[in-house]
Amino acid sequence: WSKRFNGFIASCLVKDFEQRPTSFDMLTHEFVRFVPRDPRVLRRKLGTLIDMYQPGERKDGFSESSSSVSGADTIKKELKLLATSRMVDDLASLEVMDESVLVSQLWKRYQRRLIYTNVGDILISINPFQKMDIYNEKIAKDYRGAYRGQLPPHIFAVAAVAYHDMLQENRDQCCVISGESGAGKTEASNILVQQFMRLGRAETKVLEEKILKVNPLVEAFGNARTIINNNSSRFGKYLELHFTAGGRIVGAHLSEYLLEKSRVVSQQRREKNFHIFYYLVAGLSARKLLARYRLKGVHHYLEQRGTAKGSAKSNAVSSERFEEIEKIFCLFGFSSEEFEQVCSILASILNIGDIRIEGDFHSHIGEVSTISNKIKLGDVAQLLCLEQEHLAKAFTSTHVITHGETIVRPNTVEQAIDIRDAMAKALYGRLFSWIVNKINPELHSGRKGNVRSVGILDIFGFENFRVNSFEQLCINIANEQLQFYFNQHVFAWEQGEYEQEGIDIKRVGYEDNRPLLELLLTRPMGLLALLDEESKFPRASDLSLAVKFHGNFQTLRYYNKPKDGGPTFTILHYAGPVTYETLGFLEKNRDTLKLDVSQLLRTSENPIVQVLFQTPLSRTGGLSPASTVSKAPPSATPLFSRKAPPMYFASAERGYPHSRLARGPHSPRGRTPLSSGGTVTSKSSQTVSTYFINSLRDLMSKMLNGTPHFVRCIRPNELKSPDFFQPDKVLVQLRYTGVLETTRIRREGFSHRILFQDFIQRYKVIHFKMTQRVSATPASCVCILNKTGLKSWAVGKTKIFLKYYHVEKLGKLLAGY
Ligand code: ATP
Ligand code: MG
Repeated sequence: WSKRFNGFIASCLVKDFEQRPTSFDMLTHEFVRFVPRDPRVLRRKLGTLIDMYQPGERKDGFSESSSSVSGADTIKKELKLLATSRMVDDLASLEVMDESVLVSQLWKRYQRRLIYTNVGDILISINPFQKMDIYNEKIAKDYRGAYRGQLPPHIFAVAAVAYHDMLQENRDQCCVISGESGAGKTEASNILVQQFMRLGRAETKVLEEKILKVNPLVEAFGNARTIINNNSSRFGKYLELHFTAGGRIVGAHLSEYLLEKSRVVSQQRREKNFHIFYYLVAGLSARKLLARYRLKGVHHYLEQRGTAKGSAKSNAVSSERFEEIEKIFCLFGFSSEEFEQVCSILASILNIGDIRIEGDFHSHIGEVSTISNKIKLGDVAQLLCLEQEHLAKAFTSTHVITHGETIVRPNTVEQAIDIRDAMAKALYGRLFSWIVNKINPELHSGRKGNVRSVGILDIFGFENFRVNSFEQLCINIANEQLQFYFNQHVFAWEQGEYEQEGIDIKRVGYEDNRPLLELLLTRPMGLLALLDEESKFPRASDLSLAVKFHGNFQTLRYYNKPKDGGPTFTILHYAGPVTYETLGFLEKNRDTLKLDVSQLLRTSENPIVQVLFQTPLSRTGGLSPASTVSKAPPSATPLFSRKAPPMYFASAERGYPHSRLARGPHSPRGRTPLSSGGTVTSKSSQTVSTYFINSLRDLMSKMLNGTPHFVRCIRPNELKSPDFFQPDKVLVQLRYTGVLETTRIRREGFSHRILFQDFIQRYKVIHFKMTQRVSATPASCVCILNKTGLKSWAVGKTKIFLKYYHVEKLGKLLAGY
């Protein structure tokens, strides 16, 4: 049939040029008739066709007129259509491939409610925005031992592969889930945890329950309703599950990153505060305890700018959640007193927001602030077990050092309001970290020895709002770093190694975001370093900061200065340009909490508050607990410098360059309270940005120890609607996450490369006798590979290069021995 087929095409294309439109219909018809149901044959044929009729080339031996060039284009277009009329599970298996083909494939699949698609060994997940019956016990069981490609793409398959890789290779694994806000990362991470729990049955029922309850607990405290997502994660989390060598779960560890604590005191229009506050109010209301916690009436921190009051139904749900949170606290060994103390702290935060501050003008001292609703002040004092008078003073006055003497200065209204809000944020941020620190030991089995881990990273997605501030900058930098990690894994290493090993393969271009990371993170001249520098100057302003940025970066490609030279700047992120306003950058970066406030809170008779403020040295909440973050001084181990590129991930087995991410020595945080502008403040020696860089480094070094498994989440529409696919929105996400390039490299490249000796050790039995001594030569490896019947592998100087599906096939073969 193939001869006839080729002849037919040739006549269609060249000889009967005039009748091509009809000919093409016939061709298609023939195609379907002649090419039987085998899709591989169909694909190969399509590939040949495209090759034959490249514009300007004459592989077919016919002379090409200009009209036949455009004819060839038409043919290609039509063939593409033909190719995409079929759905594939793995986009890397498409012979005809460009952006439109990828989108149409995903669209078709989505229409059939197939939300998962493979791109080689990477999983694409498109948010269905509806309950799907694809996570039930039966399906979970089917996917337990499934190799990738054996069953349709599914997040369960990611769990199975990571689990088996961990056991087989005795290496840590990490599942990296990325995507925009609302794309489905948190859901995916929860589903993964559940599946890992099924795969590695925890040693005890209690441990299993605790691990399963980690996410609901931290989501209550760390998630909130935003315009984009009703359950948006306002912090990053990395949950590590620990396994024995035999694959049983023996513990877990949670790290949290960059809680957006500014949300406690203010939210954008139509957004809400952290879920837990609504649960608290509804739960206490159901128990008729609102009065006891001074929560009657409306609260400024909850009811700002159009954040509507919840309906009766949503209140009932919130109340149920409150009950559930109490149970989870109990499960983790918190006493009922401790739970009440936590409730008091949460209630105090809401009451702090209701303290009204007014000003008086005194001719000799200027503006003086006073608290106009003393009852609220009394409520806060009572909830935090403090003296009311001391509390009032902490808001309205400040200790100032002048010529070695401490004097008390009245605060202006603005200063008093700042102190009030800073106190609320510090209480919440520290409480969040305290809870995480308390649950971690409960998740540890204390078992020593060979424990392997699988980490699951669910980090806030890339953000671009109407107004973007310091928080968005940090979030976007974290995403930028993750994209770099992804690029390194998928592109850079692959290509570097091909060259080293003398393997000839077409280079696949990709957008390298390294220069941008340099701009942001290099010390001493990167953007965050300059921010730190400016934060040290008491007289610096948001405008002087912007001028500093413009002066240093305006000539760079990734940085745009506004036309008016004002206090904004635009960064061209991998996911698109974002304009940041420098307003509040310095204050947010300094994150100072007045010493008067922290000293006062330390005197609280609420034991938890005491602990939270025991040390003025820990960050004022929000970032990772001190114990989980390396406190390297910023200059000791640069995350990113020109000399040492960032995150050259180590993977000894794969032979990648070793990690340059050594952890620096622990340095004590500054012990002397810094005085800034004469005001005595309690401040850690690290600014938020330095601490952020260290948290990021810490996270990366954890991830570098493991083999990554990527899940790319995609939000199909902006309306949170089921069965609605906006191709343009999807395309943008595919573009900036590099899915097209990934598809290419996964198809053309080799995802696995194994040293000869390791290959022999692992797969010897396929060809040799178990007892036979086999030397680690390329020839022995080739013998094994020939026996398997696999094609398109390559032999390098020291390693065998395999495609992802080869490894699956080899695994299957091995299982048969
Ligand atoms: P953010 O960055 O804001 O935290 P996210 O990527 O974590 O966003 P999710 O909270 O996981 O997004 O998902 C948003 C919503 O989409 C969920 O609350 C849920 O309603 C829906 N959703 C996501 N994934 C699924 C799924 N697999 N099945 C059903 N619904 C889903
Ligand atoms: Mg989330």
